[in-house]
Amino acid sequence: MQIANQDNQIKFDKISHAYIADESLAKMLSLAVVCEVRDRGRPCLVCSHCDKALRGIHPDITNISKPEDKRDILVDQVRELRRDVYILPNEASQKAYVIHEAETMNHSAQNALLQVLEEPPQHVVFILCTNNPSALLQTVRSRSIILSRNAEENNTDFSENERGEELSPASAFLIALSRDDVALMRCMFQIEKLDRLALASFLTEVREQIVLSFKENLTLESVHNSASEKNSLNFLVHVEKLLSKAENMLRLNVNAGHIAGMICAGVLEARN
Ligand SMILES: [Zn+2]
Repeated sequence: MQIANQDNQIKFDKISHAYIADESLAKMLSLAVVCEVRDRGRPCLVCSHCDKALRGIHPDITNISKPEDKRDILVDQVRELRRDVYILPNEASQKAYVIHEAETMNHSAQNALLQVLEEPPQHVVFILCTNNPSALLQTVRSRSIILSRNAEENNTDFSENERGEELSPASAFLIALSRDDVALMRCMFQIEKLDRLALASFLTEVREQIVLSFKENLTLESVHNSASEKNSLNFLVHVEKLLSKAENMLRLNVNAGHIAGMICAGVLEARN
């Protein structure tokens, strides 16, 4: 995964110990930290580590959020994290600590974090999730690589179209099919947040669109643009099969993260 930061390009395989990123990118980073066959910084999405991470059960990914009844991440939570970081990873070669809504750490919590950010153990990567990096102390920012959505080469925010109207997850996915791998992964990380009902209608809607395009002997415009007619047709057949598999998984109560990961890995495989 090559991601642009504000001034230059960085590769995630030159690993840093602290990143500031938005939620969807943070998820991908946490997978990349534990993935055993990371390719140019991109998680493979299919190894046993990625599989566990997608299901939210990887023992080397720790998520920290503010307590439900509190407005802030507490300094005690950070102190506990500080003790935990010195314990070696369980299964992967590195551990990821994902701090959600990092901007809700108050100054004492951020200062407590700073003590470990200054000299983090080699096996630890911190991922601070926020859409507002400027809400973090300058001292925290200066020790982190800031990965901002706007700094990316391609605009991969599919939540709305150019007129500012909200896109359905299905439309967002169909657009992402013709974009780069990072765009697709971002889209899948939005999809894994859908509840079961919304996920079911997402799958139905995308399949309907694909079937419609077969019927009318048209390839979807978004896919057609990036491939020859024959290739795009084969590709769509492949995607349709993945979606049908996903529907079966949904019926078997497989969780959304796992289903989204399966679709994403399948699409990436077909493209490469
Ligand atoms: Zn992997």
